[in-house]
Amino acid sequence: MTLFYKSTRDSENVVSASQAILQGLAVDGGLYVPTEIPETDLDFKHLANQSYQEIAALIMQLFLPDFTQEELYECINKAYDQKFDNQEITPLVKVGDQYYLELFHGPTLAFKDIALSILPHLMKKAAQKNNMAKEIVILTATSGDTGKSAMEGFADVKNTRIIVFYPESGVSPIQKKQMITQKGENTFVTAIKGNFDDAQRKVKELFNDENLRSKTADNNKVFSSANSINIGRLVPQIVYYVYAYTRLVKSGQIESGEEVNFSVPTGNFGDILAGFYAKKIGLPIRRLICASNQNNVLTDFFQTGNYDRNRPFYVTSSPSMDILVSSNLERLLFYLTKEDTVQTKQLMDDLNKRGNYKITAEMKSALSDFFADFASEKETDQTIREVYEKGNYVIDPHTAVATCVANKYEEKMLPTVILSTASPYKFPQAVLQAITKEGEKAEGIEAINKLETFAEIPVPAAIEELENAEIKHNDKISAEEMTHYVEKVLNLK
Ligand SMILES: *Cc1c(COP(=O)(O)O)cnc(C)c1O
Repeated sequence: MTLFYKSTRDSENVVSASQAILQGLAVDGGLYVPTEIPETDLDFKHLANQSYQEIAALIMQLFLPDFTQEELYECINKAYDQKFDNQEITPLVKVGDQYYLELFHGPTLAFKDIALSILPHLMKKAAQKNNMAKEIVILTATSGDTGKSAMEGFADVKNTRIIVFYPESGVSPIQKKQMITQKGENTFVTAIKGNFDDAQRKVKELFNDENLRSKTADNNKVFSSANSINIGRLVPQIVYYVYAYTRLVKSGQIESGEEVNFSVPTGNFGDILAGFYAKKIGLPIRRLICASNQNNVLTDFFQTGNYDRNRPFYVTSSPSMDILVSSNLERLLFYLTKEDTVQTKQLMDDLNKRGNYKITAEMKSALSDFFADFASEKETDQTIREVYEKGNYVIDPHTAVATCVANKYEEKMLPTVILSTASPYKFPQAVLQAITKEGEKAEGIEAINKLETFAEIPVPAAIEELENAEIKHNDKISAEEMTHYVEKVLNLK
């Protein structure tokens, strides 16, 4: 039997892996999930001697059967090369009795690089396979990390173009500088007067704008998505869970087959869902620890079975997790309902109409793969300082949230791997303030240089280059002008 993908909202909507990557979102509004969980017998002792790239080829082949090994290796080798400043791609670092899986060694210093540096290559191959000669136009609204990471991935990739919209005053200074200095003939980015929600809502409207879509098609172009609803982003993320485990085996920290926990700083539920798939294909994971910040809608959901986005929205020091609607949770609901697309659709309709839904007791009992809790702003700060003082290791606020919640989890006998999703240099002000006893305040390059005196690691080249990088994108428009902006960029008549 070959693995296909079907929509969480319509079991009749079945497509190949490459088609699912091209489409991103299913036309019925659902997300694509594999029609079966691939069967495999992971030999961890053998894998312990393999490279990140080799493990990537093995795992991705399981979930993307209509790609050949050769094609996958081509994509993998283009994605995971010197763009990453560490040969291991995702090195595992021991600090005290915990392990940090550093996912921030890519070009934009956040974990999204792992998936977004390979997605453009998978898309190109998928287009060839499906004889799609149209130019792929990626539309993305971003609150900071996704936009830069996606542009870096798609920059100068033939037959693709990317347009990013970011909120004028919703991104950190470094995130903004990273975006407006983006190189590449096919990259376009503009600030939006308004917040992230305005940009996001309008992008969804653009996808559904019949007139725009037909004009785009007439010009031999097609829209697609680079956010974590695309399975092309999820599958590459399964790889590093397996990789981390094999490094624990390799260094003799665990015996092959022993269980471990993973703690994941969670926003849109994409990263942790990849861990869920890793468990399903046989990785010995006891618990996936779902760590939230003050926006703790997921903590409440796991603890009560109620999902309710009708609540205050907090701007925190871990902005990439400031989110009240975690879109990938839909895929988990699909499994909790025992793959019932009608029930899944009903729950998502409830969420759209009322802003909340409640799962059944039976569904809730199936949540035992997870432990969920959250870290307040104060706890996040304290954790950055504690890890620095005890372990001489500097972490960013997102990673601190995952550390704090891992410490709250009471069953600590098992080794715990904490997913480190961003470089501390991406949030220098917040980190500097947290690790200095007197709460030192500094901005920009000053904060970065000061931070370097504490962290034992040099400032990444990607941050240093920013200081003198040429500004290439100065646009600022209102949300209403976004349609016109897209028409202009695509030269549509
Ligand atoms: C996006 C992001 C997260 C959250 O990941 P999800 O897949 O959305 O749950 C955590 N940390 C950082 C630094 C991020 O950029």
